[in-house]
Amino acid sequence: MSRPAPIADILIVGAGLAGLSAANRAAELGLDVCVLEAGEDELYACNSRISGGLFHITMDDMVRPADDIARAVARVTRGEGVPALASALGDRARFAIDWLRAQGVTFMKAGPDGLRKFSLAPPRVRRTGLHWRGRAGDVMLRTLVKALKDRGGRLQLGHEALSLIMRSGRCEGVVVRHGGVETDLYAPVVVLCDGGFQADKALLAEFVSAAPDRLLMRNAGTGRGSGIRMAREIGAQLVGMQAFYGHLHHRDAMENNSLWPFPVLDSLASAGVLVDGNANRFCDEGLGGISASNAIARLPDPLSAYVIFDEAIWNGPGRNWLLPANPYLPAAGGRITSAASIGDLATRLALSPDRLGETIARYNLALETGASLDVPRTTALYTPWPINRGPFHAMPVCAGLTYTMGGILTDEKARVLDQAGRPIAGLLAAGATTGGLEGGSFAGYSGGLSKASIFGIIAAETAAAAHAD
Ligand SMILES: Cc1cc2nc3c(=O)[nH]c(=O)nc-3n(C[C@H](O)[C@H](O)[C@H](O)COP(=O)(O)OP(=O)(O)OC[C@H]3O[C@@H](n4cnc5c(N)ncnc54)[C@H](O)[C@@H]3O)c2cc1C
Repeated sequence: MSRPAPIADILIVGAGLAGLSAANRAAELGLDVCVLEAGEDELYACNSRISGGLFHITMDDMVRPADDIARAVARVTRGEGVPALASALGDRARFAIDWLRAQGVTFMKAGPDGLRKFSLAPPRVRRTGLHWRGRAGDVMLRTLVKALKDRGGRLQLGHEALSLIMRSGRCEGVVVRHGGVETDLYAPVVVLCDGGFQADKALLAEFVSAAPDRLLMRNAGTGRGSGIRMAREIGAQLVGMQAFYGHLHHRDAMENNSLWPFPVLDSLASAGVLVDGNANRFCDEGLGGISASNAIARLPDPLSAYVIFDEAIWNGPGRNWLLPANPYLPAAGGRITSAASIGDLATRLALSPDRLGETIARYNLALETGASLDVPRTTALYTPWPINRGPFHAMPVCAGLTYTMGGILTDEKARVLDQAGRPIAGLLAAGATTGGLEGGSFAGYSGGLSKASIFGIIAAETAAAAHAD
């Protein structure tokens, strides 16, 4: 049977940072490029557009020795990260920054640490709530779209990829819906770059939380897991699916848009204590906000937790990190419950005063004497503070889900792997739809923008090499 005419040399699903990096690099290498983007508007929503814009790896300098990066990925994932992917990340990080600059993307140093060394310019505004227009990720995407069009690449808006066209084990194209009509589009290489599954309730219920409706959508709402579903249908391996990158937020953020994506409550929790609806600690707050957000998502009711702290924590760690709770949260409408004693605080929260008193007393005792706790508390990463001087404070918290960190397993060339670890011919993937570098049992976080740009570039180079063969 003859093969239908290809629409392009490379067909890319999704026009976030991963998709546009793949598209521009492929066009630069001489391929005819077509990008399918589900969003219809020129300013289509995606996580890349609303991102804070910090290019980093493991919350540190993106441009550092490759073996240092590989070790850091192994550390944050506690050995679950795939070493070959971590090596590729480290090997190509400097190239990715230089290459993005060459496309017209501008970076600035937004702070003294490695995390903020390569921050998109102009930076996000220092205000609570979401303000993306004309800033960081939005400007980056507009720049990359223009670069693609200048190179003759096509971006087809309002085109939603539905499934993969397979023949004899090879991916030959994509079934796409546009204006209510389904069409088969063919190309020698398909690259899945459709973001994660953070906005898909069914996949979240399968892997992340029994109550996905009770998680805060700290994202653009466009990552619906279509690439993961398509790849799974044809036998691709998925990896690290249970964890997401996210932060702790005030529960009012479920209704009040001024309370997300900032301020986050991570610093309060990693200095104080998190309790569930029974006034018991349920997670190791000392592992930080990403880990705690995942633990909250796994509670039978993810909207039942509180962060408990005292005045010293509020005026100390409460003022830490980007746009901290103190003073930004109350100003944006976040309620704080306060009382002179832990017992009164519990009563105001409708928690058991005896139980909360015991939880806090045990915690304070453990800090003082080193006594063990039923739920251990790590002290190496964040210093735990005693909660012993009133006034005492509490806030209802929720888990803010930014993006899912697990996904399709690829090799270091961005080739999608089947259950036996063999590349599936004609199919590549990059960005938040992929796993292997982050996520997993310990919710290790390596960085969303670095992963998207570097593996987008790698996918294009793999496609160009296949084209040249
Ligand atoms: C508020 C916020 C702040 C963040 N801050 C940072 C930060 O400072 N540093 C950092 O490293 N990371 C950050 N991230 C994460 C980072 O933005 C993402 O990990 C990264 O942008 C993902 O890029 P992507 O191209 O894989 O996915 P996306 O940017 O989500 O793009 C995927 C695209 O695919 C499209 N699509 C989906 N399904 C289909 C389909 N079936 N057919 C066609 N198109 C489809 C979507 O519409 C979307 O445009 C942040 C995220 C958020 C939400």
